[in-house]
Amino acid sequence: MVPLSTSDLNNPVTFPTFLNLPAEYEINDAYFSSTKPRKHWCFLGRVISSNVMVRLSLEVEDKKGHRILVAFHTDDRGASFQAQCTPGSTIAVLYATQHIFAFSPPGVRLEESAYIRVFPYTLEAMLRTSKAIFERDRAARCEVCGRADANVKKCARCKTAWYCSKMCQTNGWVAHKDECNVFRDVQWFVTRNWETGVHAHAFPVERVHRRALAQH
Ligand SMILES: [Zn+2]
Ligand SMILES: [Zn+2]
Repeated sequence: MVPLSTSDLNNPVTFPTFLNLPAEYEINDAYFSSTKPRKHWCFLGRVISSNVMVRLSLEVEDKKGHRILVAFHTDDRGASFQAQCTPGSTIAVLYATQHIFAFSPPGVRLEESAYIRVFPYTLEAMLRTSKAIFERDRAARCEVCGRADANVKKCARCKTAWYCSKMCQTNGWVAHKDECNVFRDVQWFVTRNWETGVHAHAFPVERVHRRALAQH
C-alpha cells in the first residue's frame, strides 16, 4: 500500500478530526510559537445546520462523525459565509483549535476569515476526489481513449484529468465539467506544502466572498 501523502485530505495528521486538534488554551509548542502556527493542519467538517442569532453558528460533523459547534467570531460575524453554509457543504478551517465555549460543548471558534473556506461539495466527495487525484497522477492515461504515453497532458483548469489530444479533451468535456470544479478546489490542498514552511497558509479570496463582503 502506498502511504498517504501529507497533502491528501484523507491524511489524519494534516486533516485531523476535532479531538485531534490542539486545545486553544494549552501551551502547545508543537503547534504554535506564540500565536503563529509552527506547522500546518486543516480541520474539515460537513455542515449539518446553521443558524444566525448574533453571529453565524454551524453544527458541523468531523470525519469521524463527531458533532461540534463552529461559531463565527470574524469581523463580519460570518455574514459573508452565510449563503455558502448550506447543509451538506464542507467547511475547511486552517489552524483550527478546540475552543471551550461558555454555554455550549467544546467546538471551534473562528476568527480569521482567510483561514476559512466553504465548498459546495460533500466531505465524502472531497475525500474521494483527493484520493482520485493521487491515483490519476500515478496512472497518467487519457480520460477518453485510455492512451498512456508521454503526450498525455493535464486539463489546464483542474490539473488532474489527462488527455492525449485536443479532440479527446473536447469529447470528454461534458463528462468532466462537474468534476473539474471539485478537482480544481481539492488541488489547492494537494499542491500546498503541509510539512515545512514558516508562513501560514491562507485561502485565496474568492470572488463570491469578496462580493458578499462588499454588500455587507
Ligand atoms: Zn485520448
Ligand atoms: Zn479539468
